[in-house]
Amino acid sequence: MNSVKGKRVAVLGGAGFVGSHLCERLLAVGAEAVISVDSLITGAAENLSGLWGEPRFTALTRDIVDGLEVDGPLDIVFNLASPASPIDYAKLWLETMRTGSIGTEHALGLAERKRAVFVQASTSEIYGDPLIHPQAEAYFGNVDPTGPRAVYDEAKRYAEALVSAFRRNRGVSTRIARIFNTYGPRMRLDDGRVVPTFVAQALRGEDFTVFGDGSQTRSFCYVSDLVDGLMRLALTEVSDPVNLGNPDEMKVRDFAEAVRRAVGGGGKLVFKPLPQGDPKQRRPDVARARELLGWQPRVPLEQGLRETIAFFRQVGHSRGGARA
Ligand code: NAD
Ligand code: UDP
Repeated sequence: MNSVKGKRVAVLGGAGFVGSHLCERLLAVGAEAVISVDSLITGAAENLSGLWGEPRFTALTRDIVDGLEVDGPLDIVFNLASPASPIDYAKLWLETMRTGSIGTEHALGLAERKRAVFVQASTSEIYGDPLIHPQAEAYFGNVDPTGPRAVYDEAKRYAEALVSAFRRNRGVSTRIARIFNTYGPRMRLDDGRVVPTFVAQALRGEDFTVFGDGSQTRSFCYVSDLVDGLMRLALTEVSDPVNLGNPDEMKVRDFAEAVRRAVGGGGKLVFKPLPQGDPKQRRPDVARARELLGWQPRVPLEQGLRETIAFFRQVGHSRGGARA
């Protein structure tokens, strides 16, 4: 397969932030059919409003934990279904663990029956609070199996194990994308992640809630770059995990200042307790993605923030905010 043109694709979690952008892009580059399967537990039907009326697009409201069937042939199954923000998965702890385990098993079963390529949305949380920097795929990670983030981290680690076992034992053609912090339009204003939180605070002229002393680092990837990486991965026969993220690393407190500049507003930095298990540093080593997929992120932070801010200005920013 060297293009998604003419292909039939299922996107599990298609009504979420990343999933909705992926559905749009798949159709824009000529997919024959795109079927979103989403329970709407953290996503929203409106995220797909740009596709309403598109005859090649179908949106099914289903929980993949309950089983999964899709009519007709499929060439690719993307599994993006899972709560993804720390406040979502803390609140939805059992749903997160079931989606990562039972839901992923159902998703793999679908790919097996349809003889479709299976792409798993994994995460940099596989590396936990990493002791190796930057994080390359060969690093096995430093995950606390009983801490508050474990419901997500261990579900995603289990999912990677399951995906690999389906490849080994059932011959499913699988891919694993380890996604690092990604941002852009359609993030939920109240999902507690740092990008929508700081942007909303800046737009409202409020103080920025920086957790800890703000010296922890993250690297922010714009959603269009991630979608490009996911599509290239689907089309490349590489079963080992591949990091997808932007290696441009910054301290969280510097990120607050970048948001202040981009918005042209916002109050002072106020420091709140660092949540337990919050990784101190995170930056992807993207050498494998560059070499095998010919991929690297292209959208600079200033540009990605501009698009994101424009979205939040448009949808309004009166709700939502910090989680601490
Ligand atoms: P999101 O919450 O916006 O999207 C996830 C979607 O999955 C939602 O629409 C939700 O309703 C759906 N979903 C959850 N459980 C389901 C279930 N059991 N059945 C059907 N649908 C279900 O989050 P996102 O940021 O778009 O993340 C998408 C994927 O990428 C997730 O798997 C996440 O773990 C992964 N990821 C994202 C990031 C990031 O920075 N955005 C980083 C690492 C990994
Ligand atoms: N963060 C913060 N203030 C907030 C929200 C988040 O300082 O209001 C910090 C958080 O402690 C973490 C980083 O920003 O160090 C990224 O948090 P996010 O929840 O976006 O993603 P994570 O990478 O932790 O999954």
